[in-house]
Amino acid sequence: MRLAERVARLGTETAFAVSARTAALAAEGHKVYYFNLGDLNFATPRVVVEGAEAALAEGKTGYCPNAGIAELREAMAQVTNETHGTSYGLNNVAIQPGGKPVIGKFLLSLMNPGDEVLYPNPGFPIYESMIQFHGGVAVPYGFKEGEKNFALDLEGLESSITDRTRLLILNDLQNPTGAECSPEELKRLAELAVEHDLYVLSDEAYYDIRFEGDSQSIVSLPGMEERCVILYTFSKKFAMTGWRVGAALGPADVIETIIQLNINDESCPNHFAQYGALAGLKGDQSEVQAMLAALKERRDTAVDLLNSMEGVRCYRPHATFYLYPNLTGAMAAKGMDYNEFHEALLMETGVSACTRLHFGSELPGETQRYLRMAYSGIDLDQIEEGLTKMKAWVEG
Ligand code: PLP
Repeated sequence: MRLAERVARLGTETAFAVSARTAALAAEGHKVYYFNLGDLNFATPRVVVEGAEAALAEGKTGYCPNAGIAELREAMAQVTNETHGTSYGLNNVAIQPGGKPVIGKFLLSLMNPGDEVLYPNPGFPIYESMIQFHGGVAVPYGFKEGEKNFALDLEGLESSITDRTRLLILNDLQNPTGAECSPEELKRLAELAVEHDLYVLSDEAYYDIRFEGDSQSIVSLPGMEERCVILYTFSKKFAMTGWRVGAALGPADVIETIIQLNINDESCPNHFAQYGALAGLKGDQSEVQAMLAALKERRDTAVDLLNSMEGVRCYRPHATFYLYPNLTGAMAAKGMDYNEFHEALLMETGVSACTRLHFGSELPGETQRYLRMAYSGIDLDQIEEGLTKMKAWVEG
């Protein structure tokens, strides 16, 4: 088989492979603790399910408009205008089968072959994969571990900008580190975007998965609405990962191109699922609030247990459902590299996590070692049990 040359440049999301392996081990009878994937073990809120059920009963099962149903586009524009201070209307919203497709469609709409694109590393692996697959040059920027959390390496990012840089991918409230820009940092990024004429993908997958404080978006800053595309997803906030509903929001001409990509690709998003999403946006939020409260409790329990381990240090992010503990000491004590540690932790304790390497290759000069632990798919008692076993193993 002679596959196209670009296939060699296509990456993947290896967290799914860890997840499949963990499920296979569980099926063989091993006791496992699911810290590996950003999926949720909460039921989709009733209000969403009922919205979709009603739509199914009413026969909303044919093709719908390529951009998604007008009611959902309007509701998305309205909600975003309230939270972000934007002035979006229907023409600024293209509903998508999840948030992930926005990444490729943003790049296809705005990136020419050879253009340089700044993207976070460690970061969601699909950015690098899609930039390279579509013929761009992926230029990573990193994060620094600070006193209270991780911070985007602004200086490093700035020094990577060249006259070929066209796009910036920003995932504030970041997977995997939980990093969050300060208002000053966001302002500086916005200034850089204007100064260097960059378009920005603002991946806001975790905008609403927040336990303290308020989420900010770069889109709200002066001059940004006309150069940003927001990646929105229903997956996390409404425990709807398998429903596949998300949206791209941005300037009308980019959105028009993205709608044309919808036509060429999936024709339209799932018709009846959008009515579920609409009911979620407009309806009772009590189940979402209860989920956030449960996630917060999981976060605090996991952070406290991780920090009680010798050779482990873990910050407490205000948003996302990920932890990014520094295990440099623990790994050195075991004399293991990333792959050995990952495998031994899984086989000897059942704790299934991802490592830093599942979020991109290490950058030059990186000396610290990290795991990424998701607590969205594991109950509190299992967090306690799994991390207690991990503590005994790490310190043993
Ligand atoms: N962006 C980030 C940073 C993510 O972590 C994820 C999912 O894990 C997504 C986008 C895409 O999520 P979905 O396609 O389920 O909306």
